[in-house]
Amino acid sequence: MNVKIGLEIHCQITPLKSKLFCFCSSDYRDKESNSNICSICMGLPGSLPLLNRDALKYAIMVVLALNCNIPKSITFYRKNYFYPDLPKNFQITQYNAYGISSIGFNGSIKIDEREIRIRRIQLEEDPGRIVYELNSAYIDYNRSGIPLLEIVTEPDFDEPRIVRIFLNKLSNILAHIGIDPELKGAVRCDANISIDEGNRVEIKNVNSFKDVEKALLFEISRQKSLIMKGIEIKAETRHWDDARKVTVQSRTKEEEEDYRYFPEADIPVIEIEEEMIREIKNSMPEMPDEKLDRFVNKLNLSHNIASILIDNKRLADMFEDALKIHNNAREIANWIVSDLKGYEERLGSIEKVSGKHIAEMVKMLDDNIINRQMAKMILAEMVKSGDMPSIIIRELDVESVNDKTLMSIIDKVFEEDRKAVEDALKNEKTINFLVGKVMKHTKGKTDASLIIEMIKKKLNTIKYI
Ligand SMILES: [Zn+2]
Repeated sequence: MNVKIGLEIHCQITPLKSKLFCFCSSDYRDKESNSNICSICMGLPGSLPLLNRDALKYAIMVVLALNCNIPKSITFYRKNYFYPDLPKNFQITQYNAYGISSIGFNGSIKIDEREIRIRRIQLEEDPGRIVYELNSAYIDYNRSGIPLLEIVTEPDFDEPRIVRIFLNKLSNILAHIGIDPELKGAVRCDANISIDEGNRVEIKNVNSFKDVEKALLFEISRQKSLIMKGIEIKAETRHWDDARKVTVQSRTKEEEEDYRYFPEADIPVIEIEEEMIREIKNSMPEMPDEKLDRFVNKLNLSHNIASILIDNKRLADMFEDALKIHNNAREIANWIVSDLKGYEERLGSIEKVSGKHIAEMVKMLDDNIINRQMAKMILAEMVKSGDMPSIIIRELDVESVNDKTLMSIIDKVFEEDRKAVEDALKNEKTINFLVGKVMKHTKGKTDASLIIEMIKKKLNTIKYI
């Protein structure tokens, strides 16, 4: 069966200090209800919206990062509908039906070898919030007017797995621009899905990117089982029930016409000058794809390791911080991607560890002050306490036996037990006896693999005398 999925993503422009059309603070989370409103974001008669210039800048950054075109000018529309969280009874948004009005159009993101087309990106305001408590519903307008980007894709996805990869990549791009998709309620995703060119079903209300894949998997199996029974799929809107992990039917689908878009006459046409786009382009932070290219081609990381780092901006930043202090990209990357990431997955957070910690640990390793086994112990302690490796090493009393001391211990063991040396020369399998003796002297503070390697080297030199 041929599955087609398209996405509509809403994402708040989180770094902004004020709302989209007024000077109210954009910091609305955990604030006293309706404490952060004014005549503009409440849409009182006579109030005039004024576009936040920084919102436009961030929108252009996202538009450029998603390879969209930018029109010469943009306009705003009133999308009319009645809902308690919308005090004006219309939302100020953009609308492309009478020519391009939105800040971005016709873009794309590459996922592996396929291209996911972006139909449009528009700038709009978030409505207020309805808060349900016991048997009552309260309305909090603090969120009303928060700057929002709507990103709409073409129906280019044929499986939920690719949707997940796309959303991860999009989150990562947003994070690189400075938008925080992890902030509660900052991103929401709707998906539309059809099978074999049948009716389209919209899934709304998926409040976390992580749940989109689950909602789509559920919806595909629901539709497939109906099709097998010969039941036609209805065009409808369903919402994702997070608690039961199912999609359930909601109100009947509104048609676009129901909204009756009017041009927003209170906001003039805004010219987007080439100069402005050029300036934003030049000041833009490095995007994930550019970073991948640099990590692989300039720092010689493997494609796999570089991708794992880049998928997690915190780890990538940590890697770069460490690299500034100690120049061993491969070793630093390996520790972050394998051991440290393992801790992050198990514990959920590794906040106490910074690039400085990793740099110091890898430097100690490179200077032969510690061995790998001890580095692992130090890393575990670092994650727990946040102490620097130099402090941990003192507390754990785990100073490594360095190469020189190890060599002299091996020399001593060779002298003491000539019979074992002769045995080892004849039969390499008996080498373990010597290894055990050396380990006893080093009290287990040195890697067995390093001891074996050094004993083999010494046996080789004896062989040819
Ligand atoms: Zn306001």
